[in-house]
Amino acid sequence: MLATPLRLGISRCLLGEEVRYDGGHKRDQFLTDVLGRYVEWVPVCPEVEAGLGTPREAMRLVGNPHRPKLVTIISKQDHTDVMEMTIEHRLDALNKLNISGFVFKRGSPSCGLARVRVYTTQGMPSHIGSGMFAHAFGRQFPLIPVEEEGRLSDPSLRENFIERVFAYRRFQDLIQNGITKQTLIRFHTIHKYLLLAHSQQHYGAMGRLVGQAERYGLTTWALKYGEHFMKALSLKATVRKHVNVLHHIVGHFKALLRPQEKVELLEVINDYHRGLTPLIVPLTLVKHYAQVFDVEYIRDQIYLNPHPKELMLRNHA
Ligand code: SF4
Repeated sequence: MLATPLRLGISRCLLGEEVRYDGGHKRDQFLTDVLGRYVEWVPVCPEVEAGLGTPREAMRLVGNPHRPKLVTIISKQDHTDVMEMTIEHRLDALNKLNISGFVFKRGSPSCGLARVRVYTTQGMPSHIGSGMFAHAFGRQFPLIPVEEEGRLSDPSLRENFIERVFAYRRFQDLIQNGITKQTLIRFHTIHKYLLLAHSQQHYGAMGRLVGQAERYGLTTWALKYGEHFMKALSLKATVRKHVNVLHHIVGHFKALLRPQEKVELLEVINDYHRGLTPLIVPLTLVKHYAQVFDVEYIRDQIYLNPHPKELMLRNHA
């Protein structure tokens, strides 16, 4: 249970608000009805906040792909300056709100995270890039997890995003509660198996970093750790990596299992490996044994409970 609400930024039209250029919205049911039960949304519509009105003429990115202009398609009005000013103020305000993630509307020249078309001044598509607001957001808050609503319909991308959001929030809490060498070591310890499910290499590098507090000074050290932490979690947790982690965990209480229990547990892990059952099945059994045998080191692992179970994120095969 979190002490304060988990706050996520969101492109305003995804909440069903009629702020799009055509006066419509793009309500996303998963975000409003499911994820919305666990988070406090911070809605942002950079185009409306820039005073461009609704409805308004559609815009697109034009010119230099590294620094495109935001220009209306028919009348060719350049709204780049007003958008840049609005975005700067909005990012300052978001900084104070302590958000733990952001869900962007795909394809928008303001909010699209990637694959947004950039056109030549003659109107030909020339490159792909990010919307103006999404790009500035990523530069200002490189560690904050971000995703587009369209990609969240893919179960593994959805799980990865939500896992990163909750992980980032735990890291924010760690920093805000006044980080010490001991609290970071504890943080690293309870995230061991979650990190190993994403990247053994990052987990090793982070372990070395945890031992180097004196070399960097506390703040730099913690921020370096945060960079590695978020980078590791953005890497895909594959079935093979989960199977490795499950076997490691089982190693902590294998000797305490009766022969039949051991066979059943290994069979369930094997079924997951072969794609016959979702991850939740071996995990539930592993959690059960960690409780029964009171294996504290395993019981405390975030890997077993990285986000609310009601989100049913590990239920896909
Ligand atoms: S995509 Fe962004 S700028 Fe466009 S309507 Fe939605 S929130 Fe506003």
